Amino acid sequence: MSDTELVLRSTRVITPEGTRAASVAVAAGTIRAVLPYDAPVPEGARLEDLGDHVLLPGLVDTHVHVNDPGRTEWEGFWTATRAAAAGGITTLVDMPLNSLPPTTTVAHLRTKQQVAADKAHIDVGFWGGALPDNVKDLRPLHEAGVFGFKAFLSPSGVDEFPHLERDPLARSMAEIAAFDGLLIVHAEDPHLLSSAPQQGGPRYADFLASRPRNAEDTAIAQLITEAKALHARVHVLHLSSSDALPLIAEAKAEGVRLTVETCPHYLTLTAEEVPDGASEFKCCPPIRESANQDLLWQALADGTIDCVVTDHSPSTADLKTDDFATAWGGISGLQLSLAAVWTEARKRGHGLEDVVRWMSTRTAELVGLDTRKGAIAAGHDADFAVLAPDETFTVDPAGLQHRNHVTAYAGRTLHGVVKSTWLRGQRIVADGEFTEPKGRLLTRHP
Ligand SMILES: [Zn+2]
Repeated sequence: MSDTELVLRSTRVITPEGTRAASVAVAAGTIRAVLPYDAPVPEGARLEDLGDHVLLPGLVDTHVHVNDPGRTEWEGFWTATRAAAAGGITTLVDMPLNSLPPTTTVAHLRTKQQVAADKAHIDVGFWGGALPDNVKDLRPLHEAGVFGFKAFLSPSGVDEFPHLERDPLARSMAEIAAFDGLLIVHAEDPHLLSSAPQQGGPRYADFLASRPRNAEDTAIAQLITEAKALHARVHVLHLSSSDALPLIAEAKAEGVRLTVETCPHYLTLTAEEVPDGASEFKCCPPIRESANQDLLWQALADGTIDCVVTDHSPSTADLKTDDFATAWGGISGLQLSLAAVWTEARKRGHGLEDVVRWMSTRTAELVGLDTRKGAIAAGHDADFAVLAPDETFTVDPAGLQHRNHVTAYAGRTLHGVVKSTWLRGQRIVADGEFTEPKGRLLTRHP
C-alpha cells in the first residue's frame, strides 16, 4: 500500500456491500482499497477523517441540459458543473439539444467538447441526437464516443431539434441497434398532446390537462413495440405518468431491453401545490398529482423505474412567464437533487443506499461507466460526496451556482448537506469554495 496518497475515513461509508465504518485508500486518483476503519494509515499518506459524515460515491447525472455554446445565457459548462459539484454530482452527461449547435454530427460534438474542456469542474460526457435527417451521422457519433442518442416523439421546444414520427423513429432505432447503441427517448405522443385541451394561461390545472398521462403511456407502448421488434436497447426519459408502470413492468419481465428514469421534481413536488402562474414548476411531461407520485416511489422501490436524474433544463428568468403554455419548460435541479430526493426518501422509509443506487450506481450502468463510476470499490475513480444526512438547510435561490437563480425548490427545507465533493482524489468543493476546474471529458468505452 506504499503508493497510497490519501485515506478517507468515516464511520459510514456506502459500499456495494452496504454501509460500514471504513478507511478508503486512494492512489493516483483511484480507489486502491476499502479497508477496515482502523487500518493503519500508510507512511506518507494523508488522513482525511470525516467523522460521522457519510462517504458516498459521487453521483452520476445522465440527464443535464448545459446549453453551451449557443444558449450560454441559459446555462454553461462553468456554472452547471459548479452547481453539480456543490450538489455532490461528479459526472454529468450533457443532452444534445438547447445548445447551438446541437450534438447531432461529429463536428458538432467536437465543438461542444472544445467549449467544455477547460470549464468542467466535474467529468462530462455527451449524448448524441437522433433527428429525422441524420441517420448517417449516428454511427460516426457512436464511434466518436457519445453515450447514446436522444430522440423526441413530440416537439422538443426548439426548432433545430425536430421530433421523430413513427417511420423515422424505426429507421433511427434500427441503425442504433445495428451497433448495439442506446436510444433514449422523450416519450409523449404528439397526436394525443394536440388533441388535449390547450387552454393556455396561468392555471396549473389547465397546463396539467394539456399534457395528459395517456400521451406518455401511448408513446411508451409504441417504443416497447419497436424495441421488441428490433431487440433494441431503449431508455425512457423522465417518466412522470404512473399509468405507464404496468406496461413497463410487463415489458421488462418479457425481456425487452428497456430502462426507465424519473426525476427529483416528480418525486418531491406535486401538482396540488404548484401555485398558478409559477412556471418555475413547468416541465414536460408535467409534475402530476400526489397519488401518481406515490406510485412512482413504489416503482423505484420494486425496480420498475431504474434511476433518478435531474433533467436540469434552465433558461433565463424572462422566459419563465406566468403563461404555462408559452413559458420555457424545464426545472433547474442540479445542486439540489440529492437533498430533495433524500428528504423525501427518508420520509418514505428508504435509506441512503437506495438513493445511491438510483442516482449513482444505476446511472453509471446506464452509460456503461460502471467499472469506473458509481461505487466505492477498488479500481473505481476516487469520486465522492461527503454528506451530513441529518443536517437541514432552506433553499435560497441566491445561493445556487447555476446561472439563472430560478428554482422550484425556493424556500423548501431539505435534509442532507453536502460538506465536500471529491473528483479523482481531489477535493473540488468544500463549504462553497471551489478549486479550478479538474473535470475530464468522458467518452463511451466499448
Ligand atoms: Zn431533458
